[in-house]
Parts: sequence; structure tokens; C-alpha cells
Amino acid sequence: PAAAADLRGEAVVDTGAITGNVRRLLAHARTVNPAGELMAVVKANGYGHGDVPAARAALAGGAGMLGVATPAEAVRLRVAGVTEVPLLAWLWLPGTDLAPALDAGVTLAVSHPDHLAAVLAAVDGGAGRGGPVDVHVKVDTGLGRNGVPALAPGGPVREPGPVGTLLAGLAAAERSGRVRLTGVMSHLASADVPGDPSVGEQTALFTQVLAAVDAAGLRPRWRHLANTAATLDHPGTVFDLVRCGIGVYGLDPTATDPTGPGTAVGRSLRPAMTLRAAVALTKRVPAGAGVSYGLTYRTPRESTLALVPLGYADGIPRAASSVAEVSLGGRRRRVAGRVAMDQFVLDVGDEPVRIGDEVLLFGPGDAGEPTATEWADRTGTIDYEIVTRIGARVPRRWI
Ligand code: PLP
Repeated sequence: PAAAADLRGEAVVDTGAITGNVRRLLAHARTVNPAGELMAVVKANGYGHGDVPAARAALAGGAGMLGVATPAEAVRLRVAGVTEVPLLAWLWLPGTDLAPALDAGVTLAVSHPDHLAAVLAAVDGGAGRGGPVDVHVKVDTGLGRNGVPALAPGGPVREPGPVGTLLAGLAAAERSGRVRLTGVMSHLASADVPGDPSVGEQTALFTQVLAAVDAAGLRPRWRHLANTAATLDHPGTVFDLVRCGIGVYGLDPTATDPTGPGTAVGRSLRPAMTLRAAVALTKRVPAGAGVSYGLTYRTPRESTLALVPLGYADGIPRAASSVAEVSLGGRRRRVAGRVAMDQFVLDVGDEPVRIGDEVLLFGPGDAGEPTATEWADRTGTIDYEIVTRIGARVPRRWI
């Protein structure tokens, strides 16, 4: 049987906004390196926007590469027909069956000698397309997360340090014709914090790593360090390729930096996702009526309550209780009381609200609705989390 139409609400994704955002970010990166390219990061279902439509829209804007976290995410895109550009996956365990990804022409990032051994074992077992498989090496220059450490305990890049050992292994693997090192990457910790010294420190260390790569006889095509914030505000991080996620979806991570070089471009990005719902029920209640779990909200006077049928199971943060706002009938309304699993309530006073009326939770702000960034600020999180966590239960519509 066909699924019942879900009238509760939907996330409307403006693919033209994604295309335009990629164009702007790429043009900005090319003011630093005219031959620079942009990798659109479409992991986590395209930050909640839909991985395949986001990828297609980003390619239309000139993205020359796509990036995801897991090989399974990469295979999903390839199976859906997204085959025209390199696709990099950088988070996986050495025990993963790599054959589907390598057979699909996915580039894997290696962060540890065990990763390289896993790639070689897969190739020796027949995975890949007959020739050497492409890999990037992921280096930890100071984020303290994924990536082979650039800093050996007690000093800078050394031979043999963790990077040196892995590079020697990669050089040997290249000579054996089984892999080709096509990229060197690292990720920044604080590119969105104005004036943070770690950006310069990580960039300097990355440059030392590049020298070690060269000294190992490796000649990767792509050197990449910048995320969106760095692309906008730190020209020295651009190298050959920028990896942009949040900016592709129109959210500006440098919004706190009013004088940065990327301010105008950051402001010109257009949020791609609009989360809308329909009022599911209205009711007239007396003064003093309690609303939702814990009765933390009480109506100050006789009033109309409007039920919004989205809750924390749909990705609406429970922390939005009594603090976040939505737009209804062109007016801002604050969430009344607690967000529940499937629903929350608005106190609309004497406004003639009806079942089916549109509630805009967040969007680009054209109709006075909050942005995802405002939701994040009010709920103590980041806009990445607001859009990425919109649940699978919420239908997506791409325009
Ligand atoms: N590069 C890597 C390795 C990432 O993990 C991410 C996302 O977290 C990005 C780039 C994109 O970062 P942003 O969304 O801040 O542009």
C-alpha cells in the first residue's frame, strides 16, 4: 500500500541556492588560487538536505569533487548515478569491506598504516578497476581527531614519525602499482573563531607535511585544508582544493567575524532549507491553562493554542522549549512550553489561526522567519546540528 501523505510538514530544499552558494564559494577560493577547485561535502545526507540532490546541485555550481565521511555514503551516491567527479570518503575502520567503494571508484583517505594495509589487501583481493586505486592521506595537524599525527611526541614532522612511516608505506605501495596518492588533507579546528592562532599553526604544520610528502617522492595532485570558514576568511589555507560543507547549504560560519575578508561572501550565501509545518489543531483555552509536559507554560489570559505536529523525533531540539520562535501568519511566535517527541504548541492569543495554516520554523528569512542559525543560537547548539538532525520522518521536497 502507498504510504499515507504526511501533512504535518516538510523540509523544502532550494537546490538553486546550493548551486549559487557553490558558485560564490568557488569564485572566492579562486581569488586566491585561480586553478583552485571545490569539494562539496555531502555527508550525513547532505547535512540533512538530501545527499543526491545536494550533490547534483553542487556539481551544477562547479564543484569538482564530492566528500563524505563513510564509504557507504560514497557508494550510495555512486549507485544513484553520481559518477562524474572524484568522491572521497575519510572515516572508516580497517575491517570495512572496501570492495564496493573501490569498485565504484571511490577515493579513500588513509589515516593509519592499518588503513593502507586494508586498501592493499582489498586491491590484492581483486577490488578496484584494474589499475591503482586513488587514496588521499589524512593528517592531523592539530585538531586532535582523525588523521595520522603530524606531530610526533616531542617535536615537529620527523622521519620516522607517524606521518613519515605512513608516507614511506604509501611510496612503496605506489611503486608496487596498487595505489596512487592523489591527495593530502588536514582539517582545521577553529577557522570560524576570528583571530584564532591555531589556523596559522595548523597551516604551517601542513606545509611541513607537504615537504615531507615531496621528500618521500610522492606527487599528489590535491592539497586541501580549508573548510567553509577557512575558505571565506583564511586565504592562506586554500591550496588546490577547498572542502565546503555548511556554506554550500547557505549557512555562514563566519557570521561572528564582521571584518573578515570573506564577510561579504558569507553574507551573500543563501540558506537552502526551509522547515515548514501545518497547524494540526487549534483550541481556545482559559487564562492559566497549562501547556505540554511539566506544564512549564501557562496562558496569561484566555487564548488560542495552535498545535505544531513536529517534535524532537523530527529533529526539533527539546532545548527549543519556551525559547525558539517560529513564524505564523507573518508574526513571530515563541514555542509555548516543552517540545515533545512529535509536537509542540504555540500560544497565538486572539489571532484567527486555523488548522492547516503554515508555520515556518526556519528558512532563509524572506518572510520574517528565523534562520537555522537563530534556532541554533537560541537552543545552545550550532546550525550544522539544526539542519543535519531534521529527522528521516520529515519529508524532503526539492525545488
Ligand atoms: N572537511 C572535513 C574533513 C569535515 O569533516 C568537514 C565537516 O565537518 C568539512 C570539511 C566541511 O566543513 P564545513 O561544513 O565547516 O565547511
